Amino acid sequence: MKRRDFFSAAALGASILSVGECPSSAQAGEVNQNSRNTVLEPARSIPVSSSVDVVVCGGGPAGIATALAAARSGAKTLILESQGCLGGTWTASCLSLILDMGNKGGIMAEIAATMERRDGAARRKDVGTITYDPEEMKFVLEEMCAKAGVDFQYFSPVVGAVKEGRRLRSVITESPSGREAVSGKVFVDCTGDGDLAAQSGCSFDFANPETGKWQPMSFIVLVTGIKAEEIRPFYTDLKNPQRRSHKQTTLDEMARAGFTPSYGGPSFFAIRDDFFALMSNHEYGYRGFDARQLTKATVQGRREMFAQIEALRKYGGPWKNIRIVQTPSLIGIREGRRIHGLYTVTQEDLRVGRRHSDAVCEVRFPIDVHSTKPHETKEVEKAAFRSKPYDIPMRALVAKDVDALMMAGRCISGDFIAHSSYRVTGNAVAMGEAAGRLAARAAKENCLPSELCH
Ligand SMILES: Cc1cc2nc3c(=O)[nH]c(=O)nc-3n(C[C@H](O)[C@H](O)[C@H](O)COP(=O)(O)OP(=O)(O)OC[C@H]3O[C@@H](n4cnc5c(N)ncnc54)[C@H](O)[C@@H]3O)c2cc1C
Repeated sequence: MKRRDFFSAAALGASILSVGECPSSAQAGEVNQNSRNTVLEPARSIPVSSSVDVVVCGGGPAGIATALAAARSGAKTLILESQGCLGGTWTASCLSLILDMGNKGGIMAEIAATMERRDGAARRKDVGTITYDPEEMKFVLEEMCAKAGVDFQYFSPVVGAVKEGRRLRSVITESPSGREAVSGKVFVDCTGDGDLAAQSGCSFDFANPETGKWQPMSFIVLVTGIKAEEIRPFYTDLKNPQRRSHKQTTLDEMARAGFTPSYGGPSFFAIRDDFFALMSNHEYGYRGFDARQLTKATVQGRREMFAQIEALRKYGGPWKNIRIVQTPSLIGIREGRRIHGLYTVTQEDLRVGRRHSDAVCEVRFPIDVHSTKPHETKEVEKAAFRSKPYDIPMRALVAKDVDALMMAGRCISGDFIAHSSYRVTGNAVAMGEAAGRLAARAAKENCLPSELCH
């Protein structure tokens, strides 16, 4: 199928999901017997594999910070993760650059310092960020969790929720161990796409309400066989204020090598002198919470990236030995469900630089919407205004429709524009740290997170 066909098929299916829409597969036992396209799953007893204070669903930047904070506050804590590593987009999606961490202390600073000590990260002091080696990151996060007494379980996607009235009591996992339940006092949805919240019946938004479109995914690859001193004009040197010129220089070089990347701002990130991450792919119109669309985006992204690298290698010069050494096990998903919370962060908050007495972190990263209209631009869309630094309040991390459920990371309660700014990982970690502390306190005091945040 041609690339264009993928776009149009996905665009036809584009819609804004709203109040209470849940994937039917997530609702164990609830099947539509009237439809010819469903089967009746018999009721069955499901073993409870663990019972803990705080259950963290998803072990990405938000999830590991949530779990570390909860465990260090004395809560028995378990992370359920669908991949075979911790770190989410940081590792499984080969990200390699942490944004908006300059004003973050706590767990974010601790991870950065640990990575630097191990020579797994390079700090860009003047812009307060790091590039890091994703394999080192996997190791460091596992060690930190083990030291803090966080239990984590891989290959365990959360596929369902069990409630009593409004209160979430257990989650269901489907893993090589079969279908199991995990019970807890407080749950934190750190799945990025808000899977658990949707399974629990929370209302949510998705995409830009004005256009029904959402940001593209990116298939980032790790490459070697090139040398920093030989490709200096092409990689994103964060010390250099002329960042865009590196993207343009790279785009021009790619044109000379005979191709135009699907992302119009191709970026090499230097991890080591001979080891780079390359983000030069956009997969438009695919939903991160649809397995078939994810598969298409993954196959297409991998195909494009191998073609790009082969073209550069054939072009020769500093590229003559370039090779892909790692592709992501999970394509990078920018946008998913935004779960409705007790407060919704809006673009107006960014415009005025809103402050809150229950702030969990200050966001400085600007509005950053990657092209939702590839026929107009394949780069980042021009923002309607320049955002001011603003706060994320704890209330945006507490689910509105389901009790004992919080969110951290990119699935918190916010609008399309606000999400494009707070979604970067320095903020995801800070949100997780705050969510973990509150979840642990609620578990200890036998109350709901909503009763502790005002
Ligand atoms: C292509 C791309 C480039 C980006 N560039 C940058 C950048 O340069 N710097 C930056 O700081 N940020 C960047 N971002 C944004 C940032 O990576 C994400 O917004 C951030 O990772 C959000 O963290 P999170 O923990 O909420 O979610 P994620 O990182 O998405 O982690 C979610 C975790 O939950 C797991 N999971 C998902 N569903 C389930 C389930 N049902 N059950 C169990 N586990 C589940 C996933 O496997 C994953 O480990 C980028 C994002 C993308 C996609």
